[in-house]
Amino acid sequence: MELANRVKTLTPSSTLAITAKAKQLKNEGHDVIALGAGEPDFNTPQFIIDAANEAAQNGFTKYTPSGGIPQLKEAIAKKLDRDNDLSYSTDEIIVTTGAKHALYTLFQVLLNRGDEVIVPAPYWVSYPEQVKLAEGKPVVVKAEESNNFKITPEQLEASITDTTKAVIINSPSNPTGMMYSMDELEKIGEICLKHNLLIVSDEIYEQLIYTDDQHVSIAGISEQLKEQTVVVNGVSKSYSMTGWRIGYAAGPKDIIKAMTNLASHSTSNPTSISQYAALAAYSSEKDPGEEMRRTFRERLDTLHELLNEIPGVTCRKPKGAFYLFPNVKEAVRKTGFESTDAWVTALLEEEKVALVPGSGFGFPDNVRLSYAISIDLLKEAAERINRFVVNHQ
Ligand code: PLP
Repeated sequence: MELANRVKTLTPSSTLAITAKAKQLKNEGHDVIALGAGEPDFNTPQFIIDAANEAAQNGFTKYTPSGGIPQLKEAIAKKLDRDNDLSYSTDEIIVTTGAKHALYTLFQVLLNRGDEVIVPAPYWVSYPEQVKLAEGKPVVVKAEESNNFKITPEQLEASITDTTKAVIINSPSNPTGMMYSMDELEKIGEICLKHNLLIVSDEIYEQLIYTDDQHVSIAGISEQLKEQTVVVNGVSKSYSMTGWRIGYAAGPKDIIKAMTNLASHSTSNPTSISQYAALAAYSSEKDPGEEMRRTFRERLDTLHELLNEIPGVTCRKPKGAFYLFPNVKEAVRKTGFESTDAWVTALLEEEKVALVPGSGFGFPDNVRLSYAISIDLLKEAAERINRFVVNHQ
């Protein structure tokens, strides 16, 4: 059967592809160290699991309103107020099946054929594909590594055309872990206001920051910017709840209403039990990230140092998320491989270390390593990468 044109150019997620290959090697009995994962290696906190159990026992196992149960929307509104100093009413919030589906639904309701969305690179793999699925045109603006992989206001302004509708800001970023400062966001915000662009602010890593830097939501800079921003977030990374599939979007009423209508014909609603689990998470006064941050910071410091000791590898130090995004151009050249992708494949085959090639993030000279595994395995992984580079020189 002939498939629809819209899926013909769809590329499978490179992150999932490498994870699948690593799993296959593991199943064949190989001692694989997988640094491809996009999820924290911590359990969901027990009080959240208990809340889900209770919800299931109490019969909350039926359809819910498409945009989420009112209690959860209220808890999200409180969270936005508490953590981000942002005031939203519940009709400005939609609960979604993960942040990924919030973004997908947003682009579906926002874009007409050919509308452009500015996607700063390195980007999270799904942004360009989701824009294309909505018949929009992703306009990739490549940041400089020397600017910590962040686009400048000048670069942003130069890429705006008559058909630009939105820009995506992801801070802290996947794959780089870099963050935009208040000053940078103010300047970006000014340009967006001047050109009437919607800002899609993906803040999924806001709880995972390892420096004294404060997470800034661009929506919080001014009331005008809030009116032109959709904030996307969720429980996946901050509460180690990737499998529960709960995210949300907060933004202008008309956009949220359209997203809710679309959800009513696509997902019906996010899983009822998961919504009660997320309700417990957002209602809790406990800082969910404390233990994760301590552990991730230690791993980041260790792996960052070890990577920089590998010949031909240079790695900037991220501030958040749980990824490192070293430049391996020189290592690839020294070892004689034709591309980073080929280098990554050989590394997996020979040393059984799985990394994600940067090509999927729009940055082919880099690779992404996730440090969501134990520090001992990270040390072992760095040793293997080093051996691979030295052996091939
Ligand atoms: N946005 C970014 C930048 C991500 O890295 C991810 C997950 O990897 C998501 C959104 C999606 O998260 P969720 O599990 O809530 O769909």
